[in-house]
Amino acid sequence: MAFELTDQVALITGGSRGIGFSTAEFLGSRGAKLFLVDVDEEGLRQAANVLNGRNRETAFFTADVADPDQAQKSVDACVSQFEKLDILVNNAGITRDALAVRMKAGDWESVLRVNLSGSFYMAQAAAKVMMRARAGRIINIASVVGLMGNAGQANYAASKAGVIGMTKSLAKELASRGVTVNAVAPGFIETRMTEVLSEDTRDALLKTIPLKRYGKPEEVAFVVGFLASQEAAYITGQVIPVDGGLVM
Ligand code: NAP
Repeated sequence: MAFELTDQVALITGGSRGIGFSTAEFLGSRGAKLFLVDVDEEGLRQAANVLNGRNRETAFFTADVADPDQAQKSVDACVSQFEKLDILVNNAGITRDALAVRMKAGDWESVLRVNLSGSFYMAQAAAKVMMRARAGRIINIASVVGLMGNAGQANYAASKAGVIGMTKSLAKELASRGVTVNAVAPGFIETRMTEVLSEDTRDALLKTIPLKRYGKPEEVAFVVGFLASQEAAYITGQVIPVDGGLVM
């Protein structure tokens, strides 16, 4: 089987729905044990029930990744549950869109805190475990918006551009310890995050996508699965767009 992950342990943040849940499903289908972390406790319970029902070994932990103590506790809980951590998928993310002149300081800060600081705190805690094991995969979910900017998303674009810079820096720091660090940059994917866009915005966006459709969460999950696998052992510090050709 391609992208075999038997006995690998994967921690996925924001794993209760959307891209995070699809990623958990795909990694689980390749044999990985799953540890879901999210702020949404009920969502986590339901997601874990679905995955366990499909014979994927799944545990979960409720935490806010933007809190460094809770990030550390998530990694500790994963290691105490499964005795190791091989794959971290930093997927939890939020949007608080507004034009820059009207953006509230709180909305600037919360997006930076969750998307960028949260990814860093999780990577920091996971890296200590992976460095000791001399192996590991960190996969950060960035966005094409971090590469090309987007009106109304200065906070989100800054957070995702930050994730890309962090990815490359961690890749350089951790390479000698056998840990690879990469980012996936989705374009517009059908999840609750994009459901809120108006019909007009969706139509306008569609015109800019060469493949003329939105992506599906599983199409992002496949790329995460590849980066998590042995087949991707020689890839680090890269940003892989999954965007129907939006950025080229
Ligand atoms: P989603 O459906 O909104 O799911 C995000 C999940 O993360 C939710 O379950 C959310 O819980 C959780 N979360 C939010 N803040 C958290 C925190 N502080 N700690 C732990 N969990 C938290 O989003 P999605 O569309 O699947 O997006 C997943 C990732 O892909 C995000 O990083 C996003 O920026 C990125 N991305 C998405 C798209 C797209 O088109 N959908 C495009 C590019 C990049 P609550 O809802 O309870 O807050």
